[in-house]
Amino acid sequence: LSVGVPKEIWQDERRVAIVPAVVSKLVKKGFTVNVEENAGTLANFPNKTYEEVGAKITSVKDTYGSNIILKVRPLAESELQNVNEESTLISFFYPAQNQALIQKLAAKKVNAFAMDCIPRISRAQVFDALSSMANVAGYRAVIEAAAHFPRFFSGQMTAAGRVPPCRVLVVGGGVAGLAAAAQARCMGAAVRAFDTRPAVREQIESLGAQFITMEVKEEGAGAGGYAKEMSEEFLQAERALLGREARSSDVVISTALIPGKPAPLLILEDAVKDMAPGSVIVDLAAEMGGNVQTTTKGKVTRVHDVTHIGLTDLPSRMPAHASTLYANNISAFLLSLGTNDHFHINLEDEVTRGAIVLKAGELLWPPPPAPVA
Ligand code: NAD
Repeated sequence: LSVGVPKEIWQDERRVAIVPAVVSKLVKKGFTVNVEENAGTLANFPNKTYEEVGAKITSVKDTYGSNIILKVRPLAESELQNVNEESTLISFFYPAQNQALIQKLAAKKVNAFAMDCIPRISRAQVFDALSSMANVAGYRAVIEAAAHFPRFFSGQMTAAGRVPPCRVLVVGGGVAGLAAAAQARCMGAAVRAFDTRPAVREQIESLGAQFITMEVKEEGAGAGGYAKEMSEEFLQAERALLGREARSSDVVISTALIPGKPAPLLILEDAVKDMAPGSVIVDLAAEMGGNVQTTTKGKVTRVHDVTHIGLTDLPSRMPAHASTLYANNISAFLLSLGTNDHFHINLEDEVTRGAIVLKAGELLWPPPPAPVA
């Protein structure tokens, strides 16, 4: 079987689905790997690095002529024409938001798997690209914040004076929030964090950060350990608390999300107004509407003298490592479906069933709900 790796065409997308180190693994398993010319260039993997490990550098047509297409972003309208009938596609897909794309692919009788729909169970951690990309985004959020922050992150005692450590507030302690808290700690900041799921306290404290406690109590963990939507009463109390916390922070990194819902609005303009000039907010929830009232999706802006970072392409700003981690995830998932001589879609497998969107054009998404344990 052949595997095709197209060049991503989204503006500012620098990642590539497969990196040279992973080509070797696929070749060893008997796959032919066709990499579109310059697919890896922006991630610092030039064509020759793929050729050296046994990939063929191919045209768009020959890349899509492969049996299995591995991509990062969901197919764009202009890429659809490249897709051959009955091929297999694996990429981020976001089927809830991409119904029209699904219909067009169904007409081509393709198999399609969504990396974003892989169940987040222990066995599937190695395929979990949502987590690996959230980890990169959390790290990069701190780097972006530090680059815009006009002061040191770490405290210093020098002959020229004493520098206090930067005070960082992390809102939401999922994968991205924990990565941000860890990185901010690494850089010497004093970190405080809040999440509605009580299980996060221990993880935050293990990083040497402080977990903020709220007086209004409400269970924040919903089905499968994910966050659930909180009551309006809770959110009001939370906005008051985070408003106070933001006012006494230098950097705010907000990451709070509810699966399948708009991001909860947690930090209001009033609080931003009172932050010290030069403070920085990174709103990682910007793509889903934002946790902070004053951020703009996709942009870096200055509002009330506070720098707001609403960028939505943070993993793509670290393309070499983001691509490597993604390539590890997607290739492990591909190999879980089968190898060159034994490739077969087993719908009895919980992970395969969760991730599949189309099987030979038949819509299989959403999967039936998991049986209650
Ligand atoms: P996410 O990106 O969906 O949300 C980020 C965080 O925001 C979550 O921790 C959530 O609790 C928090 N949040 C939501 N509303 C909030 C509010 N009003 N105030 C403050 N915080 C709020 O989360 P994620 O990073 O995808 O991870 C969510 C869960 O999935 C975690 O329990 C994580 O451990 C689990 N997980 C499991 C696996 C696995 O087993 N393979 C992999 C990754 C994540």
